[in-house]
Amino acid sequence: MYRGRFAPSPTGPLHLGSLFTAVASWLSAKAARGQWLLRIEDIDPPREPPSAIGRIFSSLRTHGLVSDETVLLQRDRHEAYAAAVEDLLAAEHAFYCTCSRQDLAVAREQHPPQCANSKQSPGVPASIRVHMPADRYSFEDALLGHVDVPVTEDSFVIRRKDGLFAYHLAVVVDDAFQHISHVVRGRDLLDSTPYHLRLQHLLGLPTPVYSHLPLLLNDQGRKLSKQNLADPLDDDMAPDNLRFCLEALGQPQAPARLGDCASLLAWAVEHWDCSRVPRHDLPVTRQT
Ligand code: GLU
Repeated sequence: MYRGRFAPSPTGPLHLGSLFTAVASWLSAKAARGQWLLRIEDIDPPREPPSAIGRIFSSLRTHGLVSDETVLLQRDRHEAYAAAVEDLLAAEHAFYCTCSRQDLAVAREQHPPQCANSKQSPGVPASIRVHMPADRYSFEDALLGHVDVPVTEDSFVIRRKDGLFAYHLAVVVDDAFQHISHVVRGRDLLDSTPYHLRLQHLLGLPTPVYSHLPLLLNDQGRKLSKQNLADPLDDDMAPDNLRFCLEALGQPQAPARLGDCASLLAWAVEHWDCSRVPRHDLPVTRQT
């Protein structure tokens, strides 16, 4: 059974770039007669305005994108992340690290031996990192074909110094927990995939099929994102927003008579052709 997901971090309202990912993952799942799940990746409370989750739910609902199961909130999953960290420490794949960013920059991202072997909590705030032995990772991406991603660091963080769990750990634990078979997400996360493959291997978890989508770029050639101040989605324009995403995904144009989100999505599922999804990033002139 195909099980896909959309997993936004609630650091602000959705924008056109996030809708593009949501629509692509939804259509891929529905065209395969599979399920589509929504997961809220709320692992970084200082960066999450309290209203964001409600706005994300309401935007998705207005655009006709509804989770097939109860929405998973990562704030409820700390025990599972802590257990994975314990397993990785016990197996000596992970270590405590007190290095500052500056120490690491000076040492070109290589940890001093006394740090890289430290299995005991040092009693002061420390991050927990996982060794990354290879300097490149290859895998088959369902959209991009064979990809080879270089890795520059000798390790990566799974629990931060402030005690918060890192995205790499949470996403891998939860994709497995939710039995996600296919991950469709933006190409900005391609560089993260080696860390996910490594954690899946170490934790004995299955690797889903990955598809990394092109990015929508603003007029300065930067990814549409909250950091680049992309406009929040205008829910009053929902059918137009969906049509925009379908066109950006290279899909055939839906008949003009289809004016509401449900009929547009139903039509798009029947005509979904992933071979038409562009492989290159896409400049966007319209930002609603
Ligand atoms: N939470 C991540 C984000 O909003 C996406 C995670 C993923 O799709 O793997 O960028």
